[in-house]
Amino acid sequence: MDDFYRELILDHYKHPRNKGTLDPHDFSYADENPLCGDQIRIDVRLDEQNRVKDVAFTGRGCAISQASASLLTEHIQGMPLEQVKQLTKADLLELLGIELTPVRLKCALLSLKVLKAGAYGLEGATYSDEE
Ligand code: ZN
Repeated sequence: MDDFYRELILDHYKHPRNKGTLDPHDFSYADENPLCGDQIRIDVRLDEQNRVKDVAFTGRGCAISQASASLLTEHIQGMPLEQVKQLTKADLLELLGIELTPVRLKCALLSLKVLKAGAYGLEGATYSDEE
């Protein structure tokens, strides 16, 4: 793994950006990756132009899953909802900047899956961050 990206991922894991929940929100979605035990919930508020005004995530799991969520929430700040819906696996991998094994890929992609499910208006059950 490239040192720069390893540092970036560890930094986002240890100091997650946009950690928390938003109440009220325009959409919220949560899901998990049973293979690794990762959980992510993402809340989003939109402005009048349907751009991402506020975004927050909570979750737990491995460094890749949490860093990926943190990076993604930074990336979509101010982004039009339509563009959020178009985000791809390649976009997320570019943010992470590292090669991933298939197992780690599932960890990395959980946040994107959650975000897009929310963006497409699928109301899911939200998990609690408490034990
Ligand atoms: Zn994981």
